[in-house]
Amino acid sequence: MLEQIGDVDVKTALTPNQLLEEIKGYDVLVVRSATKVTKEVIDSGENLRIIARAGVGLDTIDAQAANARGIKLINAPEAPTIAVAELVIGLMISWARHLPRADKSMKQSKWEKAQLVGSELKGKTLGVIGTGRIGQAVGYRAKAFLMNILAYDVGQNAEFVRETGARYVNLDELLRKSDFVSLHVPATLQTRHMIGRREFELMKPSAVLINTSRGEVIDEAALTDALQKGKIAGACLDVYEHEPPKDSPLLKLPNVVLTPHIGASTVEAQREAALIIAEKIKIATIK
Ligand code: NAD
Repeated sequence: MLEQIGDVDVKTALTPNQLLEEIKGYDVLVVRSATKVTKEVIDSGENLRIIARAGVGLDTIDAQAANARGIKLINAPEAPTIAVAELVIGLMISWARHLPRADKSMKQSKWEKAQLVGSELKGKTLGVIGTGRIGQAVGYRAKAFLMNILAYDVGQNAEFVRETGARYVNLDELLRKSDFVSLHVPATLQTRHMIGRREFELMKPSAVLINTSRGEVIDEAALTDALQKGKIAGACLDVYEHEPPKDSPLLKLPNVVLTPHIGASTVEAQREAALIIAEKIKIATIK
């Protein structure tokens, strides 16, 4: 797609110094998460008109320096929606049916059938915090599992309510009534530590917290405490306050299911990100 609008060079694994040299003369730069587009890179790219991230986060790009030069920033926040939503369903089932433990015990040649009695998602209440792209996609899938859906967001989506039977409530009611609570808000000043000690006090002792949004949305020290004291039953986490969470006590707890920030890591989501940014670059260069 990009070759239809200009010359394309693919150069990977450049060192920061090589990038400073290479960028001279290019009009468009496409990066993924490993390449840091610093002010020096932007200053060096005298012809740069567009910087595109084939993914979601723009935190690896100095947006201020780009804006000062009038360089357009492009990303693909739509791309990982299905991948993350499917992971949330996977995490819920992993939790409810003890899949990580079942797999581990089988590989230790055990047959723990009696110890691995699980529970069903049907009839359970899922609290969706943040009903944007991913939160809604999770809701639609949860409906197929015959779950009841409670929702909390700063805005409400009537179509989502109509199609899933979700009910918008305030945060405290959602926390009090949900069997699973799944976070889908962005990391902002308002959402930082949105779930902390006060919120764990409100949740059911049988509740499970799922976080595939951003680590800082949860106060991890309070979560560890809540899990250790049985204030909630468990947690499924894909994101952490510090990644990787090297010495976190969470790594040692039995009642957590953990994944290494793989929410967007599917072949389809990566391909979708590439296609979306190619399309956006095409539109931006035609204008
Ligand atoms: P989105 O922008 O479509 O939806 C976010 C929703 O949160 C919006 O409806 C917004 O109104 C709501 N919101 C914002 N601030 C709020 C607040 N203070 N209180 C209540 N609601 C609030 O975003 P999305 O694409 O659905 O992504 C959701 C999250 O998933 C983001 O944090 C994103 O970074 C994360 N994410 C994680 C992965 C991963 O690999 N695990 C991949 C992609 C996205």
